[in-house]
Amino acid sequence: MTKTQGIILSGIKYKESSKILKVYTRDLGKISVMAQGALKPKSQNLSSTEIFTISDFNLKKGRSFFYIESCDLVHSNYSIRQDMDKMIIGFYILELIDKSLPEEEENIIIYELLLKTLMILNTFNNPILISLGFGLKLATFLGYRPVLTGCAICDATSSPSWEFHPDKGGIVCDACSRGTGRKISQGEIGILNKLLLSTFEEIKTLNIQEETLGKLHGLISDYLLYNLDRREFKSLSLLKQIEHLNGLNS
Ligand SMILES: [Zn+2]
Repeated sequence: MTKTQGIILSGIKYKESSKILKVYTRDLGKISVMAQGALKPKSQNLSSTEIFTISDFNLKKGRSFFYIESCDLVHSNYSIRQDMDKMIIGFYILELIDKSLPEEEENIIIYELLLKTLMILNTFNNPILISLGFGLKLATFLGYRPVLTGCAICDATSSPSWEFHPDKGGIVCDACSRGTGRKISQGEIGILNKLLLSTFEEIKTLNIQEETLGKLHGLISDYLLYNLDRREFKSLSLLKQIEHLNGLNS
């Protein structure tokens, strides 16, 4: 029997009233958990097994799954599920955690990062800003912090213009780039550096133009995609579809 706190990353219905959950736990890392009877209306585990929720678990290890002996809700992160933008960014954050971490390998620093990020997303109304801060910090903790203080190829610290190249590991100077990356201004590089070095409390006070924020979020999610060896994030494709539909309606 293991006692640990965990964050629900995803859940799929299993048989009549059970759920198979993916849970990122403080002590066991990412695990699969069978929540038997969790979908029964009177189940005590109904609210504590919802996506984005933080719960304290007593788990028993079986052959293919961990099984819930008991669990207690710690924080529901209810507001994330009530706001479409927050929810999609929340899905993106959970998708990043799911895709970047192996099964059953604990990492307390990344656990604390996810915990804090979801709690802030729940109460703070700029999900893209929080998501960008999270992406930069996650990349750093995973060992591929982007190079943002000089050219990733030749180390030059000044250049008339800069490009961002995920495959080179960060910003690239005018002399080294061949016009194949996306342009990034000195000011935008400064914002990324600031986000990398700031706490979330400091990040919350930053005032960044929506357009700039969207662009930088795109660059960093491309950077994460490249390092995770993936082509797209399901959550962000969903966001693009919704934005497209909104565009059509207006
Ligand atoms: Zn260079």
